Formats: sequence, C-alpha cells, structure tokens
Amino acid sequence: MSLRARLALLYTSIVGGILLIFGMAVYVSVSASLTSQLDAKLVWAATNVLEPMRAGALGVIKLPTLDLFADIYIQVWDREGQLEASSLNIQGYFQPLDESGLKVQRPTYRDVAIGSIRLRVLTVPIVTKTSQRMVGTLQVGTRLDTVQTTQRVLVWVLVIGAAISMLIAGVAGLISTGQALAPLEAVTRTALQITRADDLSRRIPYHGPPEDEVGQLISAFNQTLGRLETLFNSQRRFLADVGHELRTPLTVIKGNVDLMRRMQSVDDESMDSIESEVDRLTRLVGDLLLLAQAESGKLTLVKATVEMDSLVFEVLNQMRVLAKDRLKLTLGEVDQVLVCGDKDRLKQVLVNLVGNAIKYTPAGGEVVVGVGKEGNRARLTVSDNGPGIPAEDLPHIFERFYRAEKSRTRSKEGKGFGLGLSIAYWIIRNHGGQIDVSSSAKAGTTFCVWLPLVDGGCQPETTELA
Ligand code: ADP
Repeated sequence: MSLRARLALLYTSIVGGILLIFGMAVYVSVSASLTSQLDAKLVWAATNVLEPMRAGALGVIKLPTLDLFADIYIQVWDREGQLEASSLNIQGYFQPLDESGLKVQRPTYRDVAIGSIRLRVLTVPIVTKTSQRMVGTLQVGTRLDTVQTTQRVLVWVLVIGAAISMLIAGVAGLISTGQALAPLEAVTRTALQITRADDLSRRIPYHGPPEDEVGQLISAFNQTLGRLETLFNSQRRFLADVGHELRTPLTVIKGNVDLMRRMQSVDDESMDSIESEVDRLTRLVGDLLLLAQAESGKLTLVKATVEMDSLVFEVLNQMRVLAKDRLKLTLGEVDQVLVCGDKDRLKQVLVNLVGNAIKYTPAGGEVVVGVGKEGNRARLTVSDNGPGIPAEDLPHIFERFYRAEKSRTRSKEGKGFGLGLSIAYWIIRNHGGQIDVSSSAKAGTTFCVWLPLVDGGCQPETTELA
C-alpha cells in the first residue's frame, strides 16, 4: 500500500476512533438524562400515591386515587402478594409490573418487558409512618418508548455522521498527502533519470520553502549528488593520472629494450635508464598502495613513543646528501618532543616534506626544519625560501596526483607523482594530527605538522584503522 493511502487510512481511523468515543459519550449521557427524567416522573407519581396513603395508614392500606396520568401505570400490592388496586389504564392486568421487585426492601428502579412493551418500573415498599412496618408494595411504571426512540435516532445520526466524517477525512487525507508528497515523487523521478542517464551533474529542482521537511530532504539529496559527482570525477581523474604515470616509464623501458635488440648489445646507458624507470614504477606502486590503505582507513600503524627531535636529526642527516652543496639544510628550533605514533610513517612524512623543500627551492636557498611544542601538541615545521606555491594551487596540493603547473613542466629530476603530500596528509590524519601550509612568493613555503603529545605514556600497539 502506498504511503499516501496509508496516511489517508490513518487519518480516517483517527477520525473514526474520535467519533466512536464521542458518539458513545453522547449516547450514554443522553440515555442517562432521559432515564433520569423518567425516574423523576416515577418518583413524583409514587410520592403522590404514597402521601395520602400514609396519612391514614395504620397497618391498613387506604387507597387514594391512582389515575394520575394516562401514561403512568400504578399497582398496589399487599404483604401477601395480593393486588390491592391498580390504575385504570391497567385494570385488566393482574400480574406485578415488576415480579422480582415485590421482594425488595428499598425503593428500586428496573427496566422490564411485558410482551413487546418495555417499561421503567419503580417499586417502593409501603410502610406505616409510626412503626415503620411494611404493609405492602407500590409499583409505578411508565413506557420506555420515548427513550428507545430517541436512542435509535441518536444511533442513526451518529453512525451516518461518523460515516460521512470518515469519508471526508479519507478524501481530504488523500488530497493533502498527495499534495505534500508530490515533491517526493519528483525526487524519485529525478533520481531514476540520473540513474538511467548516468549523469551525476543533475540536481533536483525544488520551489517550495527550503526549510520544510521536503526542502531539507531535497537539499540533502542534492548535497549527496554533489559529493558523489566529486568522488566520481576524482575517481576518473585518478585512473587517468595512474594510466598516464604508468605509461611514461613503460614507454621509456620499451624504447630502451627495442634499442638494445636492434643494436644486438646490452649497453649500460639503456640499462641505467631501464633501472631508473623500474625504480620509479616501484615507487609509484608503493605510494599508490599506501595511499589506498590510508584512504580506506586500513593503514596499519605500529605505534610506540617517538622522539620527534631524534627523528628530525636522522632525516636531516640523510637528506643532506640530496641537498648537496646546492642549498643550505639547517636545524631551527629543537625541543624534546614525544609523540605516540608509527616511527616509519612519521619519518616518511618528514622525508616527503623536506624532499619537496629541497626539490622546489632553487640553488642557494635555505631549508629550515624545526620541532617544538604548543599547548598539548607537537609542532613540526619545514620552511624554505623557494618560489612558493601559487595561491590558486594551494587548496589542491594535498589532492592525489596534484602538481602545481610550474612543477609539471619542471625538468625530469624534479618530477614527482604528486602523491607525496596526499600520503603525508593521510598519515598525519591517521595519527590524530593535522597538516597545514602557508606560502608566498616572497617568503617561500612553510609546512606545519601538528601531532598530539604523548599523554600518560604510549602503549606499543599495532592498530589497523578500520
Ligand atoms: P610531487 O611529487 O609533485 O612533489 P607532492 O604531493 O609532494 O607531489 O606535492 C604536490 C605539489 O605541491 C608539487 O607538485 C609542488 O607543486 C607543490 N609543492 C610541494 N612542496 C612545495 C615546496 N616546498 N615549494 C613549492 N612547491 C611545493
């Protein structure tokens, strides 16, 4: 059953339920009110019979006139159960109006049926005024026709009224839910069109108030589409980039192999070139694997306490070979800093950042590496006075395969895959840290890595971030 039909059914049931309770309340109160009017009439009649009767009664029933009203039946019974008198309208009737009532000690009301006639009967014991002795029984009764007719009419009015109200509620429910759900049908249609056309650039139009429930749903759906589109495009770009990066070294290798085959000799230059391209491919595959693990949160971290200052010394000593005499690689602020992390991965971050600084800073420049503390965080900085990163590239440098335009056209030795910073980003993120960059053409570039300081000791552990 559709949501629309379900909601309409729900409205109808609620209206039906309310009307049922309301109808029962009206029925009961109207019946009670009519019955109490009848009872009052019976009491009045009984009093009119009993008063003169008691005035002279001393054990013997003195009968007053019993014909008060045409619609009130009166019987007087003695103690032995003999009918003493009855009103004119039931002269030929010798049975008690209420058989079981004759035995009662107190005034009692009962509804009885005599043939097809239903009566309300009040039975009152007749007692002497002085000795309170019971000398007989008075029964007054009247027809219940009016009450029954009113009850029957009331039931019909309530049933028909309820049926009409439920019908109106059902139709109104169908129309109003139809209107409210119409935008959702548009969502479904658009979603299906997107699936069929495989076009994630489409968005669902909505002209209603953006803050209502449907507006929020559509906005959330459009945001999801936007995110999917970005992911999908980056996936495409990623595949194209990987293909491109793999093709270049493979072309070089193939060229060299062809050359050696033609020359019928193995020359050292070609072998060196092949080896360097194979190294490059190996590095690329290693980087891609690491990035895939990091991005899927499956990067295994072997955590232990890491002395960041020692790590900085270690990396600087190794990187000096790369800097050669081309530029100055110096140590800035050094503080004793302990963090909890995977030493090899953190070293990889440092190597990537220092390697980039050396790679992109022209000869004669300077690269400064420092480590310190700020609050409860370790701060690792790698600054250079190179050409800086253009402002338009800055927001993208942590993306996979992203290289600033200048770096793309750089000579072969400076060529990277554009993966180093995204790997660094993910490693630091998986350590609960943060990495940011500031850069200007004048001052050069500074990368800053923030990591939580060891807090109450670091238990050596291997965590697979799932
Ligand atoms: P690559 O392998 O190209 O170095 P990275 O991910 O390490 O890839 O860096 C991405 C881009 O960021 C680089 O191509 C370069 O344009 C820019 N970049 C990174 N570090 C520096 C730096 N210290 N100075 C200038 N540009 C930098």
